[in-house]
Amino acid sequence: MTSLDDLPLRDDLRGREPYGAPQLDVPYALNTNENPYPPSERLVKALGEAVMDVAGTLNRYPDRDAVALREDLAAFLNADTPGVGLTAARVWAANGSNEILQQILLAFGGPGRTALGFEPSYSMHPIITEVSGTRWIAARRDEDFGIDPARAVAAVAEHRPDIVFLTSPNNPTGTALPLETIEAVAGAAPGMVVVDEAYGEFRRAETPSALTLLDGHPRLIVTRTMSKAFAMAGTRLGYLAADPAVLDALLLVRLPYHLSAVTQAVARTALAHREELLGGVNALRRERDGLVAWLRGAGFEVADSDANFVLFGTFPDRRRVWENLLERGVLIREVGPPEWLRVTIGTPEEMAAFRTGLRQSRGGTA
Ligand code: PMP
Repeated sequence: MTSLDDLPLRDDLRGREPYGAPQLDVPYALNTNENPYPPSERLVKALGEAVMDVAGTLNRYPDRDAVALREDLAAFLNADTPGVGLTAARVWAANGSNEILQQILLAFGGPGRTALGFEPSYSMHPIITEVSGTRWIAARRDEDFGIDPARAVAAVAEHRPDIVFLTSPNNPTGTALPLETIEAVAGAAPGMVVVDEAYGEFRRAETPSALTLLDGHPRLIVTRTMSKAFAMAGTRLGYLAADPAVLDALLLVRLPYHLSAVTQAVARTALAHREELLGGVNALRRERDGLVAWLRGAGFEVADSDANFVLFGTFPDRRRVWENLLERGVLIREVGPPEWLRVTIGTPEEMAAFRTGLRQSRGGTA
C-alpha cells in the first residue's frame, strides 16, 4: 500500500495533520459556531426554487465575477453598517471566508513573505498562511485576550509583515477590538491588514465594524461570511470589502468560475431573506450573555464575548471535561489556550443540555 510518505509531497507539508473539528453525530453539536436555527419551510421552498431556476442553465459556466451576488452583498453591508456606501466594485465573494483568506494569501503572501497574527486566534490563519508558502509570525494577545494598540504597533514595526491578521470578534476568545486598535495597526503596517469579521454581526452596538475604516485605508480588507450569523454554513459563501484595487489583485489568483451558479443563486436567495436568517441573532446574543453570567456564577473563568460562542475555563485536564460532555451528547470544542474550552451558543434547549452536562461532569458542583 502506498502511504503519504511514499509520495513526493512538498517538504514543508510533511508531518502536517489535516485541519478539522470532529464531525460527530450528537444530539447537541456546539462545536463549530454555526447558527442553530435551520431555514424555515418558506425559505427552504424559496431556496429550492432558486436552484430550479438555475438548474436548466448548468451546462453553462456561471457568472465568473458573481456581479449580482456582489451587489446584494454590498447592499447587505450598507444596511449592516450604515454610511459605508459600498458597491459591488468593492465587494468580492468566494467559497467561504476561508477561500477569501486563501486568495488574499496567494495575492499578497508567498515565499519570502510573512503574515503576522495575534494568538490565540483562528487556527486557520497560520495554516492558510503556511500552505501558501508564507512565513507565519505569532504575536501574543494580552492576558485578557485583547490587543494593546501600542504593543501591536511595536510588533508590526519589529517584523514588518506583508499581511497582518486582526480577528474581531476573535475566535476562540470572543474578544472584539476597538476601532482605535485597528486604526493604529493599519497606520503602522507596511502591507495589507485583514480584519476577519466572521462573527461581525454578533458584535455589540458600541463596537463599530472595521468597514467604517475602509475609506482612507486602501490596504485594509474586511472579511465576512454567511456561515455564522447568517445561518448558511452549508452554502459556503464568504466575502470581503476592500478597495477596488484589492479586487484587481485577487482576480489574478482566483480560479475561473470559482463560485458555482448554485452557490450564487442560493446565496442571493438567502440575502433576500436576511430578516429571517438574521432573526435569531438577538436571541443568540441574549443566550450568550446569560451563559456568561451563569458560568461566572458557577465559578468559571469566562472571556468576554461579542460572538456566538464563549471561551471558559480553567481546567487542569480539559480533555476530561470535553469527554464527559460528549458522553452526555454535548459536543463542544477543545481549542484555544490549553486550560480552556469553547462552547457555541445554540438554542435554549441546547444550552440547557450543556449546562446540565457541565454540572454533572463537574460532579454536581456547578
Ligand atoms: N474566520 C473565522 C474567525 C472563523 O472562525 C471561521 C470559521 N470557523 C472562518 C473565518 C471561516 O469560515 P467560512 O469559511 O465558513 O466562512
